[in-house]
Amino acid sequence: MAKVNKLPLPVNDDLATLSNVARHRQMKGYPAIWAEQSTLVAAYLQYTASQGNPHVLMPAPISMTVGNLMRDYYKSSKAVVLAYINQIRDARADKVCAMCGSFGSETLDHLLPQANYPEFAILSANLVPACPCNVQRNNTVKGVSQSQRVLHPYFDSVLGQRLVAADIEDPFSQAPKMKLKILLNPMDPDFDAVRFHVDEVLMKTAIIEHFETAWANLWRRPSLLIPKLHGIAMISQPKLVYAIARERGRLDRRHRSLNNWDSVFLSGLLNVPALTSLMQRINDGPPELL
Ligand SMILES: [Zn+2]
Repeated sequence: MAKVNKLPLPVNDDLATLSNVARHRQMKGYPAIWAEQSTLVAAYLQYTASQGNPHVLMPAPISMTVGNLMRDYYKSSKAVVLAYINQIRDARADKVCAMCGSFGSETLDHLLPQANYPEFAILSANLVPACPCNVQRNNTVKGVSQSQRVLHPYFDSVLGQRLVAADIEDPFSQAPKMKLKILLNPMDPDFDAVRFHVDEVLMKTAIIEHFETAWANLWRRPSLLIPKLHGIAMISQPKLVYAIARERGRLDRRHRSLNNWDSVFLSGLLNVPALTSLMQRINDGPPELL
């Protein structure tokens, strides 16, 4: 089984960090943060207890001054006690985005956005390495129903499952319409959260364009996407399934994610219409261009 999208929590001691920024007289948060430290501690504990669930967390009753200070600390502090922020950002810069599965995580996503939750602006459990999909998602965290929310890469183990596949409508056309299909059982208690996450995070990225490019490449040269097909002029359906599944397994392991965009695309080929279309392309179509 490949390693998964779910990430280990950062190891920073957030209560110690809070104590540091509250008590150091040379830091600008003193004495405002110090005066409201117990409120912030309660909010931090509530965050951990609820696993960052926006339906459960109450807004912390902090002053606007302290809210602004927390955001300032995130944005601009060079203090040693806040060095973990850059460490979390840098640790996965070249890895698959834990939020959407794209190839890169060069920014930090405040899972609960700092605009609405300034109390968690420097809380390590709220800082998730991500691609710019966090800009597209903006401040969206939850839907109307209690079960609709954005998934949390540090807490939602469902992210370790294969959650989505490309949905290739009419795979016999040259430029089929692409969508995303959820693979999780609709009876699964996490289904609504996954649906919400797909709509509010994945569908706001360039994932569909990625599939369209992948499809065009597949048609031009099948072995570009599935190296086992190189030089093959005739293939049976079982062998094609094996070649696709094997390449998908390789990508899962390489990216340590079952939901990286290339594995998601290949999952979309593992059904009869797509396989039949691809077999026709290999067996009856023009040979691969050199
Ligand atoms: Zn992303």
